[in-house]
Amino acid sequence: MSEICRLVSEVLCLKSEVLCLKSEVLCLKSEVLCLKSEVLCLKSEVLCLKSEVSSLLSYLSSLISPLSSLLSPLLSLLSLLSCVCLAQPALQRFEYTHPQMGTVFRVAFYAKDSAAAEAAITVVFARVDTLNAVLSDYLPESETNRLCARAGTGEKVRVSADLWHILRQSDRYSRQTDGAFDVTIGNLSRLWRRARHLKTLPDTARVIAAQQLTDYRNIRYYRRGHRVQLLKKGIQLDFGGIAQGYAADECLRLLRTFGIYRALADAGGDIALGDPPPDAAGWRVEIPTIDSSKTVLSLSNCGITTSGAQYRYLEANGLRYSHIIDPRTGWGLTHRVLVTVQAPSGIEADAWATALSVADNSAVLRSKGGKWRVWRMTSGTGMN
Ligand code: AMP
Ligand code: MG
Repeated sequence: MSEICRLVSEVLCLKSEVLCLKSEVLCLKSEVLCLKSEVLCLKSEVLCLKSEVSSLLSYLSSLISPLSSLLSPLLSLLSLLSCVCLAQPALQRFEYTHPQMGTVFRVAFYAKDSAAAEAAITVVFARVDTLNAVLSDYLPESETNRLCARAGTGEKVRVSADLWHILRQSDRYSRQTDGAFDVTIGNLSRLWRRARHLKTLPDTARVIAAQQLTDYRNIRYYRRGHRVQLLKKGIQLDFGGIAQGYAADECLRLLRTFGIYRALADAGGDIALGDPPPDAAGWRVEIPTIDSSKTVLSLSNCGITTSGAQYRYLEANGLRYSHIIDPRTGWGLTHRVLVTVQAPSGIEADAWATALSVADNSAVLRSKGGKWRVWRMTSGTGMN
């Protein structure tokens, strides 16, 4: 299936390239026409001059010939530039949605026409589907679940470039956050998912057993051949805290291959931003706050994500147990927290927003400066 998607996307890429080439040919044709008309103008000008100042003809022609040989390339360049400018149609805004990865992807961008937009978005959403087939922990046949099935066998499994990349990035964030972010959380997230469904707290013994399989240090990486070894039998991976941000980045990357730079990809709150809209300094992004008020930012060329303990939770014993889990205890967060991270990319914003919900390491990010910004809001521990 992913092979077919890849083939379809390649065919679409080729089609769009053909379209680009066609439009380039049209541009060149119009340039040639411009040059021809320019030559005609110059000829008629010379004729006028000849008839008007016949007595100075020889003197003028000696002046004009070197001058025209200088002016002519300059004029050609100017007219070429104006032709190119005129050939660029005004950009139009396009927006598309696509349900995937347990959320709805919204991609907005500016392109020259609907044919260009359609060609690009088909490839973009095919890529999102491919990523889901690799990273999903729901699909039994996903590459992630096939890798988990080899856990504890001692096998060094060769993985795809996408799975390798996301595992390596996840490992980096785990180290930087002292394990607050951990994609080996799969057993715990399944346990808590079921608990939310049943509306009862999970059995403590099960939480302990699942927690013991949660440790990013139980993954070994072999750079040669992109091989991965899961050291303990039963390890389950869950990329729910990072995959959407990565997918949003990929949407923008693919749009750029179509020459589309003014773009936004929103994977259910995990947002990647490219160049701003033509008529604005940035994309308008709303940051939710814990008291339901909103802060509005104008941003471009960055990632931004909000994670929160109260987005999905189980209510029990007067507490809210969040879908975000502390990997070191195995329990869903009970403190009320809302974290927004602005980062250079979507994947970084996504992972860090989840990690900072668990533990406040925001000082590390704030010290980075540049594109990094953090808003972390908390309020007590109970149901407030
Ligand atoms: P997000 O909405 O990006 O904060 O991601 C939340 C999802 O990430 C959860 O639904 C889980 O699938 C997964 N998750 C929960 N806790 C963690 C954690 N501590 N580290 C990594 N992923 C987590
Ligand atoms: Mg996240």
